Amino acid sequence: MAEKQYINGRWVDSHAHETYKHRNPARLGEVTGVWPQGDGDDATKAIDAAAAAFPGWRALPAIRRADLMKQVLRLIDERREELARVITLENGKTLADSRAEVQSTYREMEFQIAEGLRVGGETKPTAQPGVFAYETREPLGVVSVVAPWNFPLNVPGRKSTPALMAGNTLVFKPASLTPGVGKAFVDLFHEAGFPPGVINMVVGPGSTVGAAFTGSPRIRAISFTGSTEVGRRIHRVASEAMIRTQLEMGGKNAIVVLADADLDAAAASAARAAYACTGQWCTCTSRAVVEKPVLDEFTERLRHYVEQMKTGDGADESTDMGPLCGTEQLETVGDYLRVGTREGARLLTGGERLTGDRYDDGCFIPPTIFADVKPEMRIAQEEIFGPVLSVMEASGFDEAVRIANGVPFGLSSSVYTNDLNRAMSFIEQIEAGLVHVNMLTAYKEPGFAFGGVKDSGFGTPEAGSSGIEFFTEHKVAYIKYR
Ligand code: NAP
Ligand code: MG
Repeated sequence: MAEKQYINGRWVDSHAHETYKHRNPARLGEVTGVWPQGDGDDATKAIDAAAAAFPGWRALPAIRRADLMKQVLRLIDERREELARVITLENGKTLADSRAEVQSTYREMEFQIAEGLRVGGETKPTAQPGVFAYETREPLGVVSVVAPWNFPLNVPGRKSTPALMAGNTLVFKPASLTPGVGKAFVDLFHEAGFPPGVINMVVGPGSTVGAAFTGSPRIRAISFTGSTEVGRRIHRVASEAMIRTQLEMGGKNAIVVLADADLDAAAASAARAAYACTGQWCTCTSRAVVEKPVLDEFTERLRHYVEQMKTGDGADESTDMGPLCGTEQLETVGDYLRVGTREGARLLTGGERLTGDRYDDGCFIPPTIFADVKPEMRIAQEEIFGPVLSVMEASGFDEAVRIANGVPFGLSSSVYTNDLNRAMSFIEQIEAGLVHVNMLTAYKEPGFAFGGVKDSGFGTPEAGSSGIEFFTEHKVAYIKYR
């Protein structure tokens, strides 16, 4: 029996008869669930339910919506370990990273609930005596959330909370690689007692369910996280129908290490942010651009950290890095390893699929470092989305910034230096939505916006105060009272 879809407050069978098996990426022989290949009819039913639920949900005072959302938070708190284990089972990341994801989901939702209570407007003196005017925010209607597999709990939580707090109802499609996390997420709302239709989930392929959730004129806004290629396609279709989009897409994030930097801190930071979630965070470090005088020493320290890392099943507490999320990822990353060698980069460590007892049945590639990488190489330009770090030499600050900016992406970045002038110049010049000084490229906080520039992001960013901004529209009222 296949798992079900969540439509109008109930778990129901998919309209589609086709199913697929999800497999644990650490042990492909282990089937973790059988899921429906949902179709356009499932999607239509979900949109119908969300549309029918909208008038009631928008009429509910925000404080009452917050009461329900706080029940969701309570359930997350009670189920931390259970949620972390589903994330590891489907995504492969280490339990430590899954637990951190549960915690960041909790914090981001908590912040967005509070923001949802502050949605208001403003008033200004008018040009007419006896006329009062104010500007307020209203919900849009039915919105859709299309999520990736790399943060299967955090991304739905971060997107859905502001959408719902603002009074919208929603349809949600989890990634096909993490349907069980999607189910666990929606269960929280079900058990919290959300009215039927306020949140609906359909599992199924991007090409059918995803397309229906992003192409229907009944959808008012789409919040998508995934690849730049799919984001671009969604935006093309959505713009025809005047549907607003919030697109969080790929990255090719650089850490720039200047000659005066604390090299050990820089190496530890690169080692952590390059291989967390097996290089499958959108904010992972994938390039280290290093000033020439410290290149060798930085590289040695980096190698030292990386060679200590233990690759294995994420569910084993002693594992530092888990498998890639599925066989498609394994193939893509494997291809890039060959591309890097062919392009003439020097392999320092890793570089080949792991084999042997513990590894044969899983999607394991070890943490890999390429040195002598040139800015024009494909491994320096394209998002690999795997545990591969490219180390590149820069002759000085200006060249380092040029290299860092010389890619189509612009999500995150970091500079390691103790020189205030160079740190501030880096912040001014870097083309990225997030910039750090002496910190991980992956660091973020719920109170601040999260989003990229160039091919990494489009539309009002998530999180912070802009999270809710995206899901509302303005209305201005003019009132003549005298
Ligand atoms: P993807 O193929 O773009 O998929 C993302 C989501 O879109 C999935 O739910 C997918 O469904 C769905 N989808 C696929 N084709 C679609 C279509 N034609 N119409 C509507 N929806 C469609 O991305 P991915 O390979 O799963 O995820 C990795 C990418 O996400 C990386 O590029 C990474 O950088 C990016 N990412 C970015 C951020 C950020 O915040 N900037 C965060 C995390 C990940 P299926 O699963 O059914 O294919
Ligand atoms: Mg894909």
